Amino acid sequence: MDRLTPQQRHSNMDAIRSKDTKPEMIVRRGLWSRGFRYRLNYKRLPGHPDLVLRKYRTCIFVNGCFWHGHHIHLPFDHLQFTIEDSECCKIPKTNREFWVAKIRRNMERDKEEQRKLAAMGWHCITIWECELKPKVREQTLESLAFTLNHIWLQDRGCKMADVRSKMYSQLEEEGENYLKVAEDV
Ligand SMILES: [Zn+2]
Repeated sequence: MDRLTPQQRHSNMDAIRSKDTKPEMIVRRGLWSRGFRYRLNYKRLPGHPDLVLRKYRTCIFVNGCFWHGHHIHLPFDHLQFTIEDSECCKIPKTNREFWVAKIRRNMERDKEEQRKLAAMGWHCITIWECELKPKVREQTLESLAFTLNHIWLQDRGCKMADVRSKMYSQLEEEGENYLKVAEDV
């Protein structure tokens, strides 16, 4: 039985959507299928990162291009409202000052939270909504996986070149897999 009025159902749908937004689900599935494990909406860290990978000491934010001002350049003077639209973030003409102020606050908050996380020793990666469009999605997820592996190795003081050359020689000799080699370095 459906007890919700259309209005209630609508706001329910909104709540669900904001919790499990589609772009975030794409990133989750992409990482999971590549063997990465993570925690969601980790409340103890600044900014409540969407995904946290402790092993990689990395926080991932999946950001909507409009709300987080993708490719928007903030003017140095904070009193200015002359912000140019970007390809990803078209600020409405109506009530423009309101939207500019809102998006600016979001951008400044994002920056501040990532600064705090970095000071705590966390790597921060932002994945933008536009990078998850069907045509570029796989490429984005592949490069995310590559970046995470790179971070893991770097944190352990390995240089990629060393790892690669060791990896290849060992692969030839023993047919060992990449991870095993990485652990040995
Ligand atoms: Zn974008």
